[in-house]
Amino acid sequence: MPLKTPFKTALRQVRTAEDLIIQVIGDDGSVGYGNAPATVVITGDSHTSAAAAIRQYLAPAVIGRDIDDREDILQAVQQAMVHNTSAKAAVDMAVHDLFGQKYGLPLYRFFGGARNEVVSDLTISVNDPAVMADDARKAVSEGYRQLKLKVGVGADIDFQRVSAVRQAVGPDMGIRLDANQGWTAKEAIRLIRRMEDAGLDIELVEQPVPAWDIEGLKQVTDHVDVDIMADEAVFSPHDVFRLLSMRACDLINIKLMKAGGLAPAAQMAAVAASAGVGCMMGCMLESKVGITAAASLSAGMRCIQKNDLDAADLMAADPVAGGLQYQNGRLVLTDAPGLGITEIKGWQELSF
Ligand code: MG
Repeated sequence: MPLKTPFKTALRQVRTAEDLIIQVIGDDGSVGYGNAPATVVITGDSHTSAAAAIRQYLAPAVIGRDIDDREDILQAVQQAMVHNTSAKAAVDMAVHDLFGQKYGLPLYRFFGGARNEVVSDLTISVNDPAVMADDARKAVSEGYRQLKLKVGVGADIDFQRVSAVRQAVGPDMGIRLDANQGWTAKEAIRLIRRMEDAGLDIELVEQPVPAWDIEGLKQVTDHVDVDIMADEAVFSPHDVFRLLSMRACDLINIKLMKAGGLAPAAQMAAVAASAGVGCMMGCMLESKVGITAAASLSAGMRCIQKNDLDAADLMAADPVAGGLQYQNGRLVLTDAPGLGITEIKGWQELSF
């Protein structure tokens, strides 16, 4: 999938996106869809490794089972191997899709049905301050009311990037930052305080420090007023429990590809809610299959209040027919059963 503009973060730069799509096919011919985008610098999962994990370990946990044994199937998928969360997410998603189709249930209703649409921010890639300001103005003209700025590449120029965007979009636009592990704890504290003093009005800062540095994350959380969100530092429900027991962050970013699917992602949201902590539903650079699944969970559960699900809107052409619709920053879910995916155009079949 070619992108409208190159996607640049503190971790990587890409011009096109590829996704691994799987189908779980029922005896009645119904097809459940799932996806596993490669994010080797985040989850460690590549398309080759995800395909191998599914072929050898995850598919045997699903094939031949009764879809009504959903809980057992999903547990078998999680327990078939450690890690490989993207591969597990693809299979978990497809099983949920098939279950929804059997009972005529759109997945946002399956997960609670709190809403049938969510509002997403739009990601602005890390670039020179003037380029980011231009990209931000364009996002405003497309109807987005919240921006997520990719930063974390040089602390001084990061301050200029955020200042330039705030000047360009005015005071009413929501601005989130994602440093993608790009700062040390002390750099983050200095920089975030400087932005607070300058009145840049930042809603939250995502993953300021390296994923492994939980103490550093807590140090930043303790020393700034802006809310700090854990992303790469939090994959599983257990991670949420551990980080929030330490009060290491103010918010949690849940992604299906980190969690290993919808079931563990819902559990992450419940653990965070139990600690009185808010969640954002995030995504990888992935197709509308996974975005529809993520938005269905987020819309369904009242406790997930923030969304960063713009990935499929970054593609110049969308090969996925059905699923949710993007409408000026709003993601509107379909009332079709399951995910509501009807067709994926131009895919190349892998031998299985
Ligand atoms: Mg992030």
